[in-house]
Amino acid sequence: MYRQIAYFSLGWIVIVLCSFGWGYYNSRQKDDQSILEMSRAFFGQIVLTREWNACHGGVYVYADEKTPPNPYLVKDPERDIPLQNGKLLTKINPAYMTRQLSELAAQYNGAQIHITSLKPIRPANAPTPWERKALKSFETGINEVGTFTDGHYRYMAPLFMQKSCMKCHEQQGYKVGDIRGGISITLPYNRYASLSPRITGYLAVTAAGLLFILFFGRRLARAYQMLEEQSIIDPLTEIPNRRFFMKRAEEEFRSAGRNHTPIALIMIDIDYFKGFNDRYGHIEGDITLKTVAEAMKHQLRRPPDCIARYGGEEFIIMLPNTMPEGGAQVAELLRTKIEALQINNEASKCADVVTISLGVASAPHDSVSFETLLKHADEALYTAKQKGRNRSESIIIQPTTK
Ligand code: GH3
Ligand code: MG
Ligand code: MG
Repeated sequence: MYRQIAYFSLGWIVIVLCSFGWGYYNSRQKDDQSILEMSRAFFGQIVLTREWNACHGGVYVYADEKTPPNPYLVKDPERDIPLQNGKLLTKINPAYMTRQLSELAAQYNGAQIHITSLKPIRPANAPTPWERKALKSFETGINEVGTFTDGHYRYMAPLFMQKSCMKCHEQQGYKVGDIRGGISITLPYNRYASLSPRITGYLAVTAAGLLFILFFGRRLARAYQMLEEQSIIDPLTEIPNRRFFMKRAEEEFRSAGRNHTPIALIMIDIDYFKGFNDRYGHIEGDITLKTVAEAMKHQLRRPPDCIARYGGEEFIIMLPNTMPEGGAQVAELLRTKIEALQINNEASKCADVVTISLGVASAPHDSVSFETLLKHADEALYTAKQKGRNRSESIIIQPTTK
């Protein structure tokens, strides 16, 4: 039973581990998909605002410390528009706008946006090695790349030349539809953030399950043990019952047959017990049955010897590895011990006290079947009863009588 508890515990751990692995795998897939979609949306938004800006040929904002006139538009005669109030309006082209948006995003949610190209006009727009690889892959037809780095997700997709961009970029040799660079977006993202609380949760579930299995398993094991004992022990006399005896006898007779060892069987019956019950009552009868059983059990000192209640006021004893003389001696010892208990039995016609009659059957020379020995032990008991009770009779089975 305890082995079963160990198997159940192991099974539970395996189930929890599988569930953990499956759950974690699925949630990571979902999280990875979400961050990819978030990056796509982010990228789409940037492209859209750039498109809007390019459509208008740039937009004007007030120039200030944070937004000085764009040095890369120095050749544009419309770059700056001085106002009468002394302020200056300066042109913001898509690249400048993306840069400013990128600074804002970094402050706002830690996202980094980098507009880059294999032929950058502005040195700060030169690609990192990862971006360069991505830009080259776009030229082979790949339309986006994403990768997980330490605590971040990096996404990059290409920027295509639009009609609206040609005005400023035609001189670089681009045509509409050409890849003119890309935008990389780096978002803070810890892929393993959910791992620790998840592990804690699963550990708690594992521990709770194991405690449950151990608690109820032990109770079940105890109940099973009790049931097992009850199934082999006679409840009145507290010695083994006939069922247990038959199982043991099967094993012992098989072993005696294999090893050619002698074996003896003793059938015991309490004399005039019906009269005892009638005279002293059933309860007293039960007590006496128990006392007799206990007294006989204590006389059997060798471990393989086995006693059982065979039925009613009858008992059976098996003495493996015992010669006929030994069997007869044990029977006589038991008879005198029970007589010596001095339990009054006024109903007895052979003594004043409770006595027993015993029939011994032994097979000293070769193996016999249990049924044969039992039949002869029964015959010997019958003889003992016939000869006046409170005595033992023996039958030795010779090889020819098998
Ligand atoms: P003998 O064996 O000497 O021939 O006579 P007996 O009176 O012992 O034989 P019999 O088989 O006629 O009676 C056996 C009696 O054993 C019958 C029953 O009252 C009693 N007995 C059997 N089982 C129990 C039990 O569990 N408790 C009690 N109190 N008595 C029992
Ligand atoms: Mg009887
Ligand atoms: Mg009897």
